[in-house]
Amino acid sequence: MALRLFVATTSDGKLADFREAAEEYQIAIDPVPGLRTIPAPQEDGLTFEANAITKAIYYSGFAPGEVVIADDSGLEVDELEGAPGVRSARFAADSGLTDSPDANDNTDVWNNLILLQKLAGVPSERRSARYRCVLAAARDGEVLLTAEGTVEGEILEAPHGTGGFGYDPLFYLPNLDQTMADLDVGVKFALSHRGLAFADLLPRLVS
Ligand code: IMP
Repeated sequence: MALRLFVATTSDGKLADFREAAEEYQIAIDPVPGLRTIPAPQEDGLTFEANAITKAIYYSGFAPGEVVIADDSGLEVDELEGAPGVRSARFAADSGLTDSPDANDNTDVWNNLILLQKLAGVPSERRSARYRCVLAAARDGEVLLTAEGTVEGEILEAPHGTGGFGYDPLFYLPNLDQTMADLDVGVKFALSHRGLAFADLLPRLVS
């Protein structure tokens, strides 16, 4: 393989997705070495781009001379003026609902409950939303490129489907008549905000 990229994620699912998409460019994808032992940086930017850049710059310090890619993503609901946005992972916690620190991580469940509560009584024509992802590539503390991907959908009144993670069971794709949680992994990545951002970034990185 001609080029190797390090990705700042420990998620096996994200790594597999990135690897599959990078194969056609003959790019090898690996997690940043020792990522699990590196303390995470503060993610307190006001935009996905700011957070992705912060992470890419930070983690590039742990892989000298290498290109490191970081992502930040989340859900924007029009009726909620773009919330939860950069606070997507912490939506329920920000609303005062905190998960108990037990073995079960129920964060997604709480986040989905809060979303449904905030949209209670809102008719379907006002439940438009999108996932947004920004990827940033950095080397030795310098940003090289950023790329963005979005996917439009609607928030259902009840969850559907068992795949995916996060808000996927509530995120309905009208064109497919399925939720993100109904899709199989490869299909989801190809049309998702993260997949689209990656497809935009890769050819620019190799050129
Ligand atoms: P991260 O940028 O992957 O850490 O995602 C931040 C948060 O946004 C997640 O915790 C989810 O709540 C939400 N999110 C981002 N991408 C997705 C997705 O593809 N499906 C469902 N939720 C997502």
